Amino acid sequence: MRGVYLEAGVLQVRDDLPMPSPREGEALVRVHTAGICATDIELLRGYVPGFRGIPGHEFVGTVAAHPDLAWVGRRVVGEITIACGECAMCRRGLRKHCLQRRVLGLRGHDGAFAEYLTLPAENLHPVPDEISDEAAVFTEPLAAALQVLETGAIGPADRVLILGDGKLGLLVAQAVALAGSETFVLGHHPERWHILRERGIIPMHDPGGLQGLADVVIECTGRPEGIQEALRLVRPQGAVILKSTFAGVHPLNLSEAVVKEARLIGSRCGPFAPALRLLARRQVEVEALIEAVYPLTQAEEAFARAGRRGALKVLLRITCA
Ligand SMILES: [Zn+2]
Ligand SMILES: [Zn+2]
Repeated sequence: MRGVYLEAGVLQVRDDLPMPSPREGEALVRVHTAGICATDIELLRGYVPGFRGIPGHEFVGTVAAHPDLAWVGRRVVGEITIACGECAMCRRGLRKHCLQRRVLGLRGHDGAFAEYLTLPAENLHPVPDEISDEAAVFTEPLAAALQVLETGAIGPADRVLILGDGKLGLLVAQAVALAGSETFVLGHHPERWHILRERGIIPMHDPGGLQGLADVVIECTGRPEGIQEALRLVRPQGAVILKSTFAGVHPLNLSEAVVKEARLIGSRCGPFAPALRLLARRQVEVEALIEAVYPLTQAEEAFARAGRRGALKVLLRITCA
């Protein structure tokens, strides 16, 4: 089958990749469209040392084989963590943190930038007809954005400041605004700010009067320096939520967190069902976040475009829906 293969930091479109064969309990999915995530760009830069295989974890596709025949032919999206179900974390109900986990396109399991992928049947969610393929690809990143609401750090009366008006920041801001919080976005792309203003979110170039007063700051800049800035902007005893992942190690002065008694909270993948509900009700704008769509054969160009600073979502069209 055709797909993108990444090895030693080199990306190649290949026609000779073996078809994945589903293990017990797994489904086979023919991928329609997949999204290039900032994590994929970091993968190319060495975020997962020694990564070798097919990347890609944001996708929509059609079920080609499934332990339950009723699923065959359904349009689906899929949760990306493959848990063992038996380790100490799985037994505690923390399947996302499974000690033996594989992760679609990131860790020990080939991903979505290919004609076919496999996933455990339990990871799949049917996509309602009212959601287009282009919007459905945003289920995984929107779920990750919604995860900030699961931290327990954001209340409806809070002033929440999101750092970054990239694709992640725009999704996180919309998720937070839906909770009723006073929501601000610090960014550098005024041409995108109509998406925010239409939802009552206040975009700005400069934090001005919010300096040291934000109850919660959510770091979505994709740059290591963003964490330091978040610590500067949060109020004493406020919370900083970290959403960006980076390759490498970066120096950080954490004294500000100590002196302010700030809470630092990491946040990763999130719940798919609410993301699909919001997409079906059109309560979150995602189509305006698409920068370009490339065919699979032009994956290298697509990655170059997605890796440019400030790029919005770049999609790969893998097979016809
Ligand atoms: Zn991602
Ligand atoms: Zn486990």
